[in-house]
Amino acid sequence: MSGNESRIQAIYQITNREPMPKKAPKRLEEIWATDVFTLSKMQECLPKTVFKSVKKTIQTGEPLDSSVADAIALAMKDWAISKGALYYAHVFYPLTNATAEKHDGFISVQSDGSAISEFAGKLLIQGEPDGSSFPNGGIRSTFEARGYTAWDITSPAYILETDNGSTLCIPTVFISWTGEALDKKTPLLRSNAAMSKAATKVLKLLGEKEVDPVISSCGAEQEYFLIDTNFANARPDILLTGRTLFGKPSAKGQQFDDHYFGAIPERVQVFMQDVEERLYRLGIPAKTRHNEVAPGQFEIAPNFEAANVATDHQQMLMTMLRSTAKKHGFICLLHEKPFAGINGSGKHVNWSVGNATQGNLLDPGDTPHANAQFLVFCGAIIRGVHKYGSLLRSVVATAGNDHRLGANEAPPAIISIYLGSQLEDVFEQIRQGDLKSSTVRGHLNIGVDTLPVLPKDPGDRNRTSPFAFTGNRFEFRAVGSNQSVAGPLVAMNTILAESLNWMAERLESEIAKGSKLNEAIGIVLKEVIELHGAVVFNGNGYSEEWHKLAVERGLANLRTTADALPVLKESYIEELFDKMGVLSPVELASRFETYAEQYILSIEVEAKLVVSMVKTLIYPAATRYLADLSNTALSLKEVGVEFDKESLEKVASLTKLAIDGVSKLSDTMKKHDFASPEEHMQFLSKTVRPLMDKVRESVDALEGEVADDLWPLPTYQEMLFVK
Ligand code: ADP
Ligand code: MG
Repeated sequence: MSGNESRIQAIYQITNREPMPKKAPKRLEEIWATDVFTLSKMQECLPKTVFKSVKKTIQTGEPLDSSVADAIALAMKDWAISKGALYYAHVFYPLTNATAEKHDGFISVQSDGSAISEFAGKLLIQGEPDGSSFPNGGIRSTFEARGYTAWDITSPAYILETDNGSTLCIPTVFISWTGEALDKKTPLLRSNAAMSKAATKVLKLLGEKEVDPVISSCGAEQEYFLIDTNFANARPDILLTGRTLFGKPSAKGQQFDDHYFGAIPERVQVFMQDVEERLYRLGIPAKTRHNEVAPGQFEIAPNFEAANVATDHQQMLMTMLRSTAKKHGFICLLHEKPFAGINGSGKHVNWSVGNATQGNLLDPGDTPHANAQFLVFCGAIIRGVHKYGSLLRSVVATAGNDHRLGANEAPPAIISIYLGSQLEDVFEQIRQGDLKSSTVRGHLNIGVDTLPVLPKDPGDRNRTSPFAFTGNRFEFRAVGSNQSVAGPLVAMNTILAESLNWMAERLESEIAKGSKLNEAIGIVLKEVIELHGAVVFNGNGYSEEWHKLAVERGLANLRTTADALPVLKESYIEELFDKMGVLSPVELASRFETYAEQYILSIEVEAKLVVSMVKTLIYPAATRYLADLSNTALSLKEVGVEFDKESLEKVASLTKLAIDGVSKLSDTMKKHDFASPEEHMQFLSKTVRPLMDKVRESVDALEGEVADDLWPLPTYQEMLFVK
C-alpha cells in the first residue's frame, strides 16, 4: 500500500502488533463486584445497628444518621486498604458530561514522624474540591466561590485500579455552599423523589394500601467506534474533537449490511472481554455486545439498574471503554458522528418506573386492575411527552448530536411517541369512547373492569421513533453516545412527576363529582388522548410526510442545538422544574449558560482546526501534487506530448476553493460582538458550520485527486478496515 510516511508507519505498527498477553478466563462468581463496597460487604463488617441504619437510608432515601458515619468510614477504609488503596476520591459529575475526581491520601503524619492511615466519617460524607474551574453557568459568581461534594450513599463506593495501585472512589453530589446543584447527580436524585411522590399519590388513589418508594430504572445501550491509535495519532481532528473534520468516504462503507451482528473481529473481542471483566469487578452488569451497523462500530449494553446507580455506572463504562481501548492500542470514539457517510453513534436510554410493592408500573400486567394502572401511567407519559417534547429535545442537544438527529440514521429532531399498533388501538378506542371495538383479545371497558390482557411484548418495533414503548419500558433513542444519561433521565422523571400530579388532581375531582374510580380513569384517559394524542406516531419518522404532518399537528421540529437549547429558558420549563423541586430558576439558567457555552466552544475548536489542518496539511500536499503535475506537463510539452490538462485544472481549482473557503472561515470567526449566547449559537449554526462544510467538500474531493503517497491523513478506508 502506498501512502505518506506517517500512514505507512501506522499500518506497519498495526500489522506487526504484538497480541495482548493472554489472560486466563475467570468465573463470574470470582470477579463479580469484587471491587465494590456492597451492602453485603457492609453487613459483614459493620455493627448491626450501623448496618441497619445504612440499609434504611439506601432503601428509603432517608437522610443518613451522621452518628454512624465514623463507623462506616472506618469499615470502608479497612476494606479499601485491604485492596491496596492509599488514596480515596470523591467522584462527582459536573455539567460537562465528564466524571471528575478529587483524590486525597488516607495518610496522616504523627508527631513522632510516623504515618498512619486515617479516614474520618466527616471526610467520607463531605469533601471540598476546588471546583472553581468547573463550568457552572455563573452560579458561583453570584453566590459563593467554592463548592462541596457530599456522599451519595445510594450509589456504592468502589475501587478503581491502575497498574500502580488503587483508589477508593466515593460517588458524590457537587453543590455550592448556598445549596445550588453544580452537577448532574443532584437533580437526578431530586427528580426521582418528585416522581416517587407523585406516583405514590396516584397509586393510593388507585386503591393501593401499601406503596414502597418508586424509583426510575435505566438500561443504556452504548454505541462506539474503535480506531487503531496509530491512525488516530496522525489525525489532529480525531485527537482534538473526537471526529473526522475531513475524509472521503471509502468505496466500501456499510452498504453491504455485513457488519451489523457480524462476527466480532478477534482483536476487538479481546478488548471487549477485557472491558467486561473490569465492569464485572465494578458490579456493572454488562450483558450484550455486538457489532453495530457501520464498520468499526460496536455496542455494549448492561442490564438495567436503578437510574441513579445506572447513571454512575454509565459514566464508569464510558471511562472503562476509553481507558481499556488505550491498553489495546485502540482509541474509543464516543462522538455522535466520527465519520461522514456511515452511521453515527447514539445511546438508547431504556427507562421505566416501579417499586417493590407494585412492580414495574409500565408493565401492562395480567389483571384488569394492573392494566388500568398501566394505562394511567402510560397516559401520564403521553401527556408529558406532548407537553414537554421540546424539553426532551433540548436535553439531547449537543454539537455532536446535531450531526445525527434527523440524518435518516437516528430519530428526527421531532419528538413523538411510538406505542405499537395494539396499544395505539387501545388508546384510540379510549378516545372514541367506544371501548368494545377492540382488535385486541376480548374487549376494553374500563367502566366495568374488563380490560383485555394487554400485549406483553408489542412485537412490532420502530427504529425511527425517538421515544418508543418497548413492552415494559420506554426507550429514548435520541440521546447522544457521548452524553451523560442524567439529563435525559431528569427530564423524563420530572415530566412524569408533573403529569402524575395532574392525573391525581383530575381523578380526585372526577371522583368528587360522583364518578366511580374506573369511570374517572376512563374520563381522564379520554381527555389525555384527546388533548395529547397528537404526539403519538407509529409511522416512519424518517419520511418527508411525517415532517409535514408533524407541523400540522403542532409538534416542534428543533433541528439544531442552537434552536433547542433556548427551550431551557422558557417560562413553562422554569415553572416545571421549580414546581417539582428539581431545579431552581437559578440552577436551570446555569444549565442553559453552560450547555450553550459548550456548544459554542466545540464549534469554535472545530472551525479553528479546519483552518489549521487545511493550511498546514492539506494545502501543502495539494500544491506539491500540483507542482508534480505542472512539471510533468512542461516536460511533456518540451518533447511534444499533449498532457491531460483537465486533472491539473481540477486539482488547482479545488485547492483554490479550499484555501479561499478557509480564508472566509477565519474572517467570519473574527466576529465577537454577540448580544446573547442564543445569537452566538445561531451564528455558529447558520453561518460557521455551513462554511466548514463547504471547505470539507473541496478537501474531500481533493482526496480523490491527489497522489496517495502525498496525502497526509489516514483515510477512511485505512481507519475503518485495517485492524
Ligand atoms: P434492544 O437492542 O432490542 O433495544 P437490548 O437488549 O440491547 O435491546 O437493550 C435493552 C436495554 O433495556 C438493556 O439495558 C435492558 O436491561 C434494558 N431494560 C430491559 N427492561 C427494562 C426495564 N423494565 N426498564 C428499564 N430498562 C430495561
Ligand atoms: Mg434498543
